[in-house]
Amino acid sequence: MQPSRYNYFVRRADGVVGFNARTGKFALMTDAVFEALNSDDTHNLRELESLRTMGFVHEGEERDLIDARFRSMRARKDYLHLTLVPTLDCNLACPYCFQNKYRDSPVWSAETQNATLDFIKQRLAEGRREVQCVWFGGEPLLAKDIVLSMSERISAVVASGGGRLNGGLRILTNAVLLDGATARELAAVGIKRAQISIDSLVYDGCKRRGVIDKTGAPSVLVHHIRQAKEHLSVDVRINVSAENVDDMPRIMDVLDENGLSGCYGVARVHNHEEETGNERDLVSGAKTGLPKIPRPAEPTTVGRKDYADFELDHFMPRLSGAAKLLPKLTPKGHFCAATQGHMFVIDPAGFVSRCWHSAGVPSEAFTNVHDAVAPAPDAENTSAWLDYSPFRYRACTDCKVLPLCMGGCAHPRVFMDAKKPPCEAIKFQIQECVDTVAKALVLEPDASAAGADCAG
Ligand code: SF4
Ligand code: SF4
Repeated sequence: MQPSRYNYFVRRADGVVGFNARTGKFALMTDAVFEALNSDDTHNLRELESLRTMGFVHEGEERDLIDARFRSMRARKDYLHLTLVPTLDCNLACPYCFQNKYRDSPVWSAETQNATLDFIKQRLAEGRREVQCVWFGGEPLLAKDIVLSMSERISAVVASGGGRLNGGLRILTNAVLLDGATARELAAVGIKRAQISIDSLVYDGCKRRGVIDKTGAPSVLVHHIRQAKEHLSVDVRINVSAENVDDMPRIMDVLDENGLSGCYGVARVHNHEEETGNERDLVSGAKTGLPKIPRPAEPTTVGRKDYADFELDHFMPRLSGAAKLLPKLTPKGHFCAATQGHMFVIDPAGFVSRCWHSAGVPSEAFTNVHDAVAPAPDAENTSAWLDYSPFRYRACTDCKVLPLCMGGCAHPRVFMDAKKPPCEAIKFQIQECVDTVAKALVLEPDASAAGADCAG
């Protein structure tokens, strides 16, 4: 038995709290156990078996256990994650949007809607019964009639195919069109959650999704968020970029002042072209006439470490209770469904890809609903995702937060030859997160009896 490389410790008045990032377990332990774990002298501990169960010690190669979890999730054939993109058009033009180049794509035709339903039926017939479904864009409410009618048709197809729509349908929207009446219509067709992204202090109706208007009053977006909450479960996502990071405290104040505390989170704006230093070669340019996406001349993003510090200093103190940090400390099998092989992103022209970033990029698709009796794989794109594993990258295999991050967003590694690891914020803030949670947890003073599960 040897101590885990994924152990973290916090001293408090009644002992030492240990956290293991592979299992997500916390345990209160004596100084003797703590010292044994740090000196690799655990053999005589009476708590050895419970320490092993909770992951603080292990036998053999510990990374194999994480890799086995990664592989077993990929081997599951009962998941079906649908991301439906009826249009890439948008009523705003956020400067950092990775879809700005694809605006002129078509809206789902009647033929594509029917072919999408057939595609879903085929996946259900393969045994994929645990279904998640999210509307994405562009701005999906620009195609509201399609969203409404297809939501009902998809629910019926899933039910008749023996599937379960876990958590109902979801929608990602900028909320410009999400007034109370629209939210009610969405709820009536089975959409239960809306994720609404904002990114500015002042709403300008064009490039900035702000929380106040030019007079300083709450913006139309804030009004819509409040109205939508009457009918839907709403998560507000504040996109943090180099341009808006200094306004973040005031943006969050406005949301708090408008009764929206506890329903917003923050997320770093990514720019893969900027980070990889590469232009994104769409290849599809030959088919669509689209140019390559160049890397920006000026930085648009907050650096990953700086973003993690922003969360620590400005966002986490607003959280109501340490339990809100537990999702960050919950081990993952995969970073997202794209690498699991269960994600099907269907774009306006019917192209099917694994990744949200690939909507509108035929060169990254592996089939099209119009020619998919079975998803005839584009060998190159299918194997690009299947070959991906964080265990292929030394930075990740050496990393002490690997079980929590699992290599981060894989798209820049799969398609853009990224050289740097796409580290999640937890990489730079794990000790602070463990400190906060460990100090708040109620734990029994004996490692053999203790243990709180992050997932709980
Ligand atoms: S690989 Fe990255 S961009 Fe693609 S769906 Fe996953 S998290 Fe999103
Ligand atoms: S991407 Fe970064 S934080 Fe994530 S596992 Fe790899 S090295 Fe660690």
